[in-house]
Amino acid sequence: MQQGFREPQPLLQALGVAIPAERLSREAANGFAMRVTASYARQMRPGDADDPLLRQVLPLAEELLSPPGFSEDPVGDGCARQLPGLLQKYPGRALLLVTAACPLHCRYCFRRAYPYAGDRLTGERLEAILAQLRGDPTLHELILSGGDPLMVEDQRLAALLERLATLPQLRRVRIHSRVPVALPERITPQLCSLLAGYRLPLVLVLHCNHPRELSPEVAEGLAALRRAGVSLLNQAVLLRGVNADQTTLCELSERLFACGVLPYYLHLLDRVTGSAHFAVSAEQGRELIARLRHALPGYLVPRLVREVAGEGCKTPV
Ligand SMILES: *Cc1c(COP(=O)(O)O)cnc(C)c1O
Ligand code: SF4
Repeated sequence: MQQGFREPQPLLQALGVAIPAERLSREAANGFAMRVTASYARQMRPGDADDPLLRQVLPLAEELLSPPGFSEDPVGDGCARQLPGLLQKYPGRALLLVTAACPLHCRYCFRRAYPYAGDRLTGERLEAILAQLRGDPTLHELILSGGDPLMVEDQRLAALLERLATLPQLRRVRIHSRVPVALPERITPQLCSLLAGYRLPLVLVLHCNHPRELSPEVAEGLAALRRAGVSLLNQAVLLRGVNADQTTLCELSERLFACGVLPYYLHLLDRVTGSAHFAVSAEQGRELIARLRHALPGYLVPRLVREVAGEGCKTPV
């Protein structure tokens, strides 16, 4: 993490890319800091100002536009917060905000404005959450989210998983993470053996948007997670200037499969303030999926969904 980039200029310099100063925005970066790992930056194409990986992390002046329909909490997280650190929207599943830390700061992130300060998952808060969840016999799955749950240290992750396994009704634990893509060094043999030894089935839902995010180093980490017995799925966000074309989405699915990962969701952008320049229409999303159905085996076509605040599941598009 320390070798990463927290300012645009050093990254642009390393890539040999010039972007006019007025296209970048200090104000955008003050609201939501820039954060890019060295390993993620290595996958960017030198000399390409429109690189799809660079675009995902570069604070641009366009973030300051806020057209109607965009807001700080587009998915209704505020209303779904049952306790500090606990979000529950759908039956059978609950989501824990394990940490606010992320390997990257993705500019389109729907939690970019989430008030994490009040949700740090302390031991005391975890016990309060477990006490509440214990009373719900239909709760079969816990989702570790954040931030990114793989940003916490092994010891803390192990302790957390142990506590979760004390819920007798729990059938599996899911981890939502961008770490295998953005910080492959984190997928250590120690982490894998910790996960392999867990008594409940583990599902890792990766967040990967572009085939070039899946470098050989990333593929190695994913293979190690598979050997540890973790089921691997991917969710991507449909993003203008990143992956909103048939070729890129086909290559993403193919490359994911080659890495042992099945496509799960393709999300329409959550309309969070600052992300309007990434928006792709539902219409275009539908057309792309229709084309993917012809070009790929059915199991490599992700489900196109959007999240509607207050709905009881992700909404198919
Ligand atoms: C998206 C989401 C889930 C998971 O939904 P699935 O359709 O099971 O992937 C669970 N909890 C919350 C709060 C969510 O936003
Ligand atoms: S929560 Fe996920 S999408 Fe949001 S900034 Fe972190 S890694 Fe990116």
